Amino acid sequence: RRALGSLGKSRAKFISAEETTGVTFDDFAGQEYIKRELQEIVRILKNDEEFQDKGIYCPKGVLLHGPPGTGKTLLAKAIAGEAGLPFFAANGTDFVEMFVGVAASRVKDLFASARSFAPSIIFIDEIDAIGSKRGGPDIGGGGAEREQGLLQILTEMDGFKEFTSQVLVIGATNRLDILDPALLRKGRFDKIVRVGLPSKDGRLAILMVHARNKFFRSEKERDALLQEIAELTEDFTGAELQNILNEAGILTARKDLDYIGREELLEALKRQKGTFETGQEDSTEIPEELKLRLAYREAAVAILACYFPDPFRPFIETDINSITSQPNMRYTETAGRIFARKSDYVNSIVRACAPRVIEEEMFGVNNMCWISAKATLEASRHAEFLILQTGMTAFGKAFYRKHNDLVPNLAAKLEALRDEYMQYAVEKCSSVLREYHSAVETITDILLEKGQIEASEIWDIYKRAPRIPQVSS
Ligand code: ADP
Repeated sequence: RRALGSLGKSRAKFISAEETTGVTFDDFAGQEYIKRELQEIVRILKNDEEFQDKGIYCPKGVLLHGPPGTGKTLLAKAIAGEAGLPFFAANGTDFVEMFVGVAASRVKDLFASARSFAPSIIFIDEIDAIGSKRGGPDIGGGGAEREQGLLQILTEMDGFKEFTSQVLVIGATNRLDILDPALLRKGRFDKIVRVGLPSKDGRLAILMVHARNKFFRSEKERDALLQEIAELTEDFTGAELQNILNEAGILTARKDLDYIGREELLEALKRQKGTFETGQEDSTEIPEELKLRLAYREAAVAILACYFPDPFRPFIETDINSITSQPNMRYTETAGRIFARKSDYVNSIVRACAPRVIEEEMFGVNNMCWISAKATLEASRHAEFLILQTGMTAFGKAFYRKHNDLVPNLAAKLEALRDEYMQYAVEKCSSVLREYHSAVETITDILLEKGQIEASEIWDIYKRAPRIPQVSS
C-alpha cells in the first residue's frame, strides 16, 4: 500500500479522493431496507478473508438509481466510511470530452488510482453520461468518445480477478432506462438498489438527522414541528428537507432568535417550494420590464421603511424573484408591546402608498400595472382603521367595526376624512421619494443585478444617499 498522504493530491483533477469519508449509515435516514442491504456489503468488505473462506464474494459493482437529491452519493460515502476504505469519486460527465481518447484514459486513471490503494471504493456519479446505450441517439455529442469510455469501464471491471485487490465500484444514475445493458451483466453492476423518495416516516427521520446540530426550544417542540413539516412535504427529497432546516436556521439567526420556531420553518418550506418550482420551469422567468417595475416598487417600499421606521416590526430583506401584488419586503414578527401614536398610524398610510406613487412617477399615470394596484387599497384600509377604530381623529371617539356599520351621513363623513388622509399620504410619500431619488435608483440597480437586498445594505444606502431638498407645501 502506498502512503495515504498522497491521496488528497490526486494528480488527475477530475478525481476527488478522500482517505476516509467519515460518513456512516447513521447519516442516511429512512428507507432502512437499503441500509440493511448495503450493510451486508460493508461486512464482506471488512472481513474479506472470512467471507473468502466461505466462498462469498463481494459484488464488483453496486448501482444506485433514483431521483437527484435522494442520498445516493451519501450512501456511497457511507459504505466507504463504514468499511474504513478510501473513496475515489468522479462524475460521468467529466469523462466525456470531444478529444479522442480522453474518456478511456480518464477511466484508466480512475481505476489505477483506486487500485493502488485497494481495497477501496470508486464512485461514479451520473454514470449514464458515459454508460448510455451504444448506438442510441447521440444526445450530447461525442458518441464515439463515450463508447470508448464505456468499453474501458467494462474492461476494468472484468479485470479485477483477485479478491485481495478488491475495488468496489458504485455507480449512481437517475436514468436506469438508458444504461447500456452490458453494464448490468453479472460481474459488473450486478447489485442494483433503488433509492426512492422518502415516505412520511422517512421524511421525519431525515429531518431528525439534520436537526441534530440545530437549536429548538425543547425536544417536544422540535418533534411536533418536524412532524408537521414531514406531513407537508410529500415528494420532497432528502436534499430538499435538509435545505429547509438550513434555511430555517439562517432565518432564525437573521432575526436574532435563539431557537428555530414554527414561523421560520414554514417560511423556509415556502422558499424551498418556490425554488423547486422555478427550478423546474423556465416559463416562470420574469420578463425584464416587470423586473424593473418590481425593483422600483421594492426600492420605494424600502426607502419609506427607512424614512418612517416601524419600531415594532423592523424589515429584514426584499427581492424581485416573485411576482406579487403586495410588496416582497419581509419583516420580523411584531415584537414587544405596541404603543402606537397617531403619527405612527398616519405614517403607515404614507408607507403603504409607496408602490403606487413610484409606479406613477416612473412609468406614468396611464401606464401603471397591477403590481401597485393593491397599494391604494392597503393605504385606505390603514386610514379607515385610524378613523373608525382608534378614536384619534376628527371623526370622533366612537369605535366602529367596519365601514358598513355606518349610517349614511357618517359614511359620507368618513369618506371625506379618508380622502384627506389619503391625499396627505400620497403627497408626503412622493416628496420622500423625490428627496431620496438617488437612493431609490441605487437600490433598484442592486435588485436588478442581484435579485435581492438585505436590511443592512438598504440602511447603508439610505443614510449615505445625497438628498434633494423638498419645499414643503
Ligand atoms: P444524490 O447523490 O442522490 O443526488 P446526495 O447524496 O447528493 O443525493 O444528497 C444531498 C444531501 O441531501 C446529502 O448530503 C444529505 O445531506 C441529504 N440527504 C439526502 N437524502 C438523505 C437521507 N435519506 N437521509 C439524510 N440526509 C439525506
